[in-house]
Amino acid sequence: MARVCFDDMSDDRVLERVGVLVRRSNESTAELLAYLAEIDDRKLYRREATSSLFAYCVERLHMSESAAAKRIWAARAARRFPLLLEMIARGEIHLAGVNLLAAHLTEANHAELLALARHKTSRDIEKLVAAIAPRPDVPSRVVALQQRAHEQLIDMLAPAALSQEPPLLTEQAPRGAAPRPSVVKPLAPRRYEIRVTVDEETHAKLVQLQDLLAATAGSDPAMIISRAIHSLHQKTLTRKAAITDGPRAGKATDIRSRPVPAAVKRAVWTRDAARCAFVDDKGRRCSATRFLEFHHLDNWARGADHRVERIELRCRAHNQYQAELDYGVELMRARRHGSRRLRENRRAGTAPPRAFPGECESSRDRPSGWSGPPQQWALAEPQKTEADVRAYACLRLACDSHCIAPCEQRAPSSPRCSSSSPPPGATMTPAIARS
Ligand SMILES: [Zn+2]
Repeated sequence: MARVCFDDMSDDRVLERVGVLVRRSNESTAELLAYLAEIDDRKLYRREATSSLFAYCVERLHMSESAAAKRIWAARAARRFPLLLEMIARGEIHLAGVNLLAAHLTEANHAELLALARHKTSRDIEKLVAAIAPRPDVPSRVVALQQRAHEQLIDMLAPAALSQEPPLLTEQAPRGAAPRPSVVKPLAPRRYEIRVTVDEETHAKLVQLQDLLAATAGSDPAMIISRAIHSLHQKTLTRKAAITDGPRAGKATDIRSRPVPAAVKRAVWTRDAARCAFVDDKGRRCSATRFLEFHHLDNWARGADHRVERIELRCRAHNQYQAELDYGVELMRARRHGSRRLRENRRAGTAPPRAFPGECESSRDRPSGWSGPPQQWALAEPQKTEADVRAYACLRLACDSHCIAPCEQRAPSSPRCSSSSPPPGATMTPAIARS
């Protein structure tokens, strides 16, 4: 493969190219499955001195065991239902989804099930399988892993497996692997199996809770874990989004304080349905529900306030992306570098009380206890790198252009700072440059 040069490639071109490659990969995968099925049918693996298609894939084609198993299951399912190959070629279903569904497809149901599985995640397809083939609840068990590890582990890597049918892929780990991953698996509609590994202290507390609750609520670990999750869920929602059973009305205030008021948090969280509200230029909304932050559309550093209609939930990635659009990639990179170095210094006990300033030199974010001009502050701290000082100079320029309420009045038409390089004649004095 020729080395790809990205130097002069635009963002649009990179994304377009990936789309082309994925389409090509999907088509190649479908074709490969068709060929594997044919090899299986003709038993061509035998003339390659292997005893099974699985062994042929692993020993001759050098696939990993899991990659071979996934492809063989998919190839055999596609032999029975050619529609699968068409969907794989079009990128409408992935191999993991095919493996989950394969055992449940019949002549009568496969068209309907495959339509339901189109463009679904593995987690969604697990729920689909749980709906069509529900399993009974798993009895609660608390066991010490060392005493029963051999009971539930499938040894996929044993030599004997190479000459047998490939195992259907599950979350089960090979022998000796430890610790086992946690599992949350749908069993039936609205019923889930949860399997976790906990430490001795947590186990001791669970046992004590079983004793304490035996007379009232019961001692089933599933019930105790369920109540613990409900309790933690409520506390976390209150802390993160101010969602409570008895919310108080927000107080009207004209003070521009940094924390988002609880009533505003609640309203934004509810309106955005606890999901990132970033929408791209094609109208597609981000699906992230983790690492959510409250994002001011007007940008806090430029004087935004806490109006509900001007705040959205954003995942961390899109919050950072917006900051890069607003301030420039280089500037945000320099800020992250400064923040990371500050954390490292604090951990090492070598950092001053504040090693890096906020956006605005005249705001409350300026270094505490410093009363001199920023140029001298920039020289005062020996840990600073040139990148830090350049970023600081640039942040000050951003402040000069954009900060409104905390600073003196700025001209709205001031140019926007988008680079870590100081403009000609700016505050990058020779004294700062030397540091
Ligand atoms: Zn997002």
